[in-house]
Amino acid sequence: MAAWLTVAPGVHQRRYEPFDISIVVIEGDDGLLLVDTRAQPSEAVELAADIAAGFDRPVRWVVNTHAHFDHTFGNQVFGPGTATDAAIFGHSGVAAHFADFEGPRLAAWRADPTREPDRRWADVVLTPPTHPLDRALTLDLGGRLVELRPQAPAHTDTDLVLFLPDARVWILGDLIEESGPVMYGSGSYPLGWPGVLDALAAEMQARDLVVPGHGRVVDRAFVERQARELRLIAERFRAAHDAGLTVAEALAAHASWPIPVDGLVGAVERAYLALDAPRETLS
Ligand SMILES: [Zn+2]
Repeated sequence: MAAWLTVAPGVHQRRYEPFDISIVVIEGDDGLLLVDTRAQPSEAVELAADIAAGFDRPVRWVVNTHAHFDHTFGNQVFGPGTATDAAIFGHSGVAAHFADFEGPRLAAWRADPTREPDRRWADVVLTPPTHPLDRALTLDLGGRLVELRPQAPAHTDTDLVLFLPDARVWILGDLIEESGPVMYGSGSYPLGWPGVLDALAAEMQARDLVVPGHGRVVDRAFVERQARELRLIAERFRAAHDAGLTVAEALAAHASWPIPVDGLVGAVERAYLALDAPRETLS
């Protein structure tokens, strides 16, 4: 699994364990753009070595698809103060998401290393984007443009999609997943997520290439299918909330769900939180 797969000319995906995380390198005349940085500094050091062995240019730009640890905890290896000294781009909400979720998660792991003895959480320095974005931005890599598009709340409130107009490649982070069920991880927005995917799919052409946060490259039809599944889940959550069902009752009300029901407990809690919130904060 661990080798660079050329998705399109100058666009390369590599799938790393743990987590089958999608790392993408985009080549420009002026340097490389790296998408996501793996889950801890030692993994990012390995990634940097793989990039140095595979490409003849330095990483000048790093983009985080969202704040989750498996995509960002290697940032410190590429960012300010390092030999690479790349600019790190990400959604403007990443720093707040770190404070609310990834920071406490890191503290809990550090407090009890026996929970994940293989991991080296002590080495992690939370490194948010140097260039936080609250609106779309086009980067010029030299002979190639890459659009960075912060999204409305969906998988998280920090999702950012990359689009390469010349190659018709979309990089969606965990807005979609191929190698496992979609993850309602920390800070998800189950009700808003399907609409975000619908809007992206509406812009896609049938043969566009779509790189998920985890898994093999897919297409528009895959995105549409996952959007339908997420919409079904969101509609069931709304109906259960309207009917006054508890979280457990909401999940027990249907014999089957598009993803394993274990992965929906946190999701229905997040949906209920949104539905119980004052109207102006609904998303
Ligand atoms: Zn994620």
